[in-house]
Amino acid sequence: MHARNIYKKRLNFKDVINDHQNLRKYVSIDLSGEAKYDFKNPEALAELTKTLLQKDFNLKVDFPITRLVPTLPLRLNYILWIEDLLKAALPKTDDVVGIDIGTGASCIYPLLAAKQGWKIIATEADKESANIARKNVENNALSHAIDIREVSEADHLLVGVLDEAKTYHFCMCNPPFFELNSCPSNRTGKRPPPKNAITGTSTELSVSGGEVEFITKIIEESKVLKDKIMIYTTMVGRKCDIGVLKNRIREAKARSVVQGEFCQGNTTRWFLAWSYTFDLVDEKIVEEKKSKQATPIIWTLDEVSVKGVVDRLKELFTSLEVNILYLVS
Ligand code: SAH
Repeated sequence: MHARNIYKKRLNFKDVINDHQNLRKYVSIDLSGEAKYDFKNPEALAELTKTLLQKDFNLKVDFPITRLVPTLPLRLNYILWIEDLLKAALPKTDDVVGIDIGTGASCIYPLLAAKQGWKIIATEADKESANIARKNVENNALSHAIDIREVSEADHLLVGVLDEAKTYHFCMCNPPFFELNSCPSNRTGKRPPPKNAITGTSTELSVSGGEVEFITKIIEESKVLKDKIMIYTTMVGRKCDIGVLKNRIREAKARSVVQGEFCQGNTTRWFLAWSYTFDLVDEKIVEEKKSKQATPIIWTLDEVSVKGVVDRLKELFTSLEVNILYLVS
């Protein structure tokens, strides 16, 4: 998690439900007395995000669970990472203007960005999502800060969408991840069941060519727009896509490219930023990975005897394919 992320500390759902009765029905208490939230239920996820947006950001946001349900810790990590990049490149700028490609019905990034005092142009290809996003902006009286632009999927992502005479500080994107008609897999070819509910429509989550092709479009357009956007950024859903995308950014002759990584509970996401304007500094914003605790080996001996212990050790070392030089019984 980003050092300034207010959700760095795990939520204690016993406290949360004391203050927010609407979440009570999604919390169960396990045998050890720990409160567990039903993250696998899209309705529970949506209600939690809405509640936290209201409580922590004074944002009243509504979105249907038939669209992608955003989780807040991840969205906040991305915004804070962009804030770090901007501060490092442009320490004195306060009139920040950015672009969110594919804002979704919740319009979550622009709403969080507006709370930072930034202005955002938000694009969306899905008509219904664009309409709901617009309502969220109006309901929070943020029309002066957020401009929703409905675009066609076939159009460019940035070229022709922006005002030609203006320059922008950054663009951001949570791209549709999955390749149409394909199932993403990890290194082992097996994918563990998700800990959170999978939400979102197929057009939100899938795109021909997967995220690599979508992000490549942004890279190609950045080659045309160059300094018009000072920092190009994107989220990347799969670690294995980072290498190929970085190569494409280098081929597009960007001046610099940096990478970020954040782990929210069970989900890790990667981020790329590149620029034709600045030498972006990799401030090691990449969070340190928690080292995995080794699982201890536990044996129970029926009777404690030296021979018994030696036999078990032999068994263990043999199973680990460790040569035994001395073992005296
Ligand atoms: N930013 C939101 C939604 C991400 S899902 C969030 O993080 O929760 C990706 C979004 O991109 C969807 O809303 C989808 O409708 C939109 N999208 C897909 N293709 C697009 C395109 N060519 N231009 C703009 N938006 C697009």
